[in-house]
Amino acid sequence: MKKRAVFLDRDGTINRDVGYPDSYSLIDIFPYSYEAVRKINQAGLLAVITTNQSGVGRGLIKEDNLQDIHRQMKAAFDRQGARLDGIYYCPHYLFSKLPEYKKDCSCRKPFPGMALQAAAELNIDLPNSYLVGDKVEDILFGLNIQARPILVLTGYGRQSITKLKQQGINPAHIASNLLEAVEWIIAEEKTKI
Ligand SMILES: [Mg+2]
Ligand SMILES: [Zn+2]
Repeated sequence: MKKRAVFLDRDGTINRDVGYPDSYSLIDIFPYSYEAVRKINQAGLLAVITTNQSGVGRGLIKEDNLQDIHRQMKAAFDRQGARLDGIYYCPHYLFSKLPEYKKDCSCRKPFPGMALQAAAELNIDLPNSYLVGDKVEDILFGLNIQARPILVLTGYGRQSITKLKQQGINPAHIASNLLEAVEWIIAEEKTKI
């Protein structure tokens, strides 16, 4: 049977958005994020990070360092009894000086590539999944994969409300932060049973 997932944006949703962090020491995880991921785990949903990391293509972050950040994040969540089921990133940048990252790719949100890869690898039922993020491209990514997108007001969330209104795009829900978003998802799940 296919599994359902909560796709999680990283910067501005799970941790403070400080702009192109290239070491784990710069990753400031919001204190409630551990509980949010534990609740996703307990609800029987997968917790899958999907993050645009054009800093790699821009030459600001080495891909090895990005992978090290993700290993350490996963370990930090593990220590708190919270399981991240997958971490997917897009390292590309259209104007990159590094040929391996110079790509007009289909994995940069709002394009669906990261979710399609996760769905194939983790057997995910995308139309019954959720997305939580703080930017317009997160909400569009959620809509593109036919999942239910939830905007959080951390990170760029407040600016995104205005942009979404201007563009006539409606998230399924707006939550003050990731924990409240997950609590809303769990309440929605209960209405299905
Ligand atoms: Mg973000
Ligand atoms: Zn990409």
